[in-house]
Amino acid sequence: LASGDRILDLMQTVPMIRDCENAVALPPLEGGIRFENVSFSYERGRLVLDNLNLEVRPGQRVAVVGPSGGGKSTLANLLQRFYDPDAGRVLVDGHDIRTCKLETLRSQTSIVLQDSVLFAVSARENIRLGADGANEADVLAAAQLANAHEFLMRMPQGYDTVLGERGATLSGGQRQRIAIARAALRKAPIVILDEPVTGLDGQNESEVMAALDRLSAGRTTLLISHDLKAAKQADLIVYLAQGRVVERGTHQELMALGGEYAATYIMQTAPDSAPDKESYYAVET
Ligand code: ATP
Repeated sequence: LASGDRILDLMQTVPMIRDCENAVALPPLEGGIRFENVSFSYERGRLVLDNLNLEVRPGQRVAVVGPSGGGKSTLANLLQRFYDPDAGRVLVDGHDIRTCKLETLRSQTSIVLQDSVLFAVSARENIRLGADGANEADVLAAAQLANAHEFLMRMPQGYDTVLGERGATLSGGQRQRIAIARAALRKAPIVILDEPVTGLDGQNESEVMAALDRLSAGRTTLLISHDLKAAKQADLIVYLAQGRVVERGTHQELMALGGEYAATYIMQTAPDSAPDKESYYAVET
């Protein structure tokens, strides 16, 4: 009964972020994103984003890098409208997201986090989460894209294997590959990757990175990462510090600029730092 009370309380909570009157349904998006003079604070008086401007073209792969606490994940929070900016606007394909039906925004966004949430149901149901209309062939294609098909086929009940709570019966890399399959199945035009390989190593990491390459191909992608080696092949790199875009450009441009990005990159790739790794984004030949 006590738990029931708490569940009822939760279900009766009115979210602060909800559809406005006359909210319009977004059409299928191409994936253009614009942050226009956006300022935001979680707590009064502590500015997290400070008059930030950022334009991302449909299909562009953008890496958001910079020091801890700089506001990188906050960009992703605002893009999915978990919060509204205090000033300025966030637009997708030219639509101010405050005027759009939330469901039509969030259903067109996929996200892979450092620690994605898996449930104690079958692998298939975990992949299908949020894509109810998907058929078996779609699930299979998504798992193949995510490099998950082979390890799932090796499990006792294949796709019907019930996972441990929060995916506890899988390795970190396997959990991420299920999360990538889930994101791929949604076929959303906008993909957010928030530190998706942090904490993985070796084989796991390279398999997850190859899967992320395929997931992000042709989709507007926001990769949030501390790791500049992982971000260097992005079409655009944005260096965010204290809620402001301090530098922006390609890896080559930012190295030539010789600013914060270049200094951090040199530090991270120094011989005595962590071993080098491939980019999320395969080099086009
Ligand atoms: P990291 O690289 O460490 O993940 P980040 O650049 O992604 O950092 P954010 O997570 O966007 O930074 O956080 C920016 C600032 O906002 C930080 O000072 C953080 O403490 C604060 N912050 C983040 N989420 C909340 C929240 N829900 N409530 C209050 N403050 C928050």
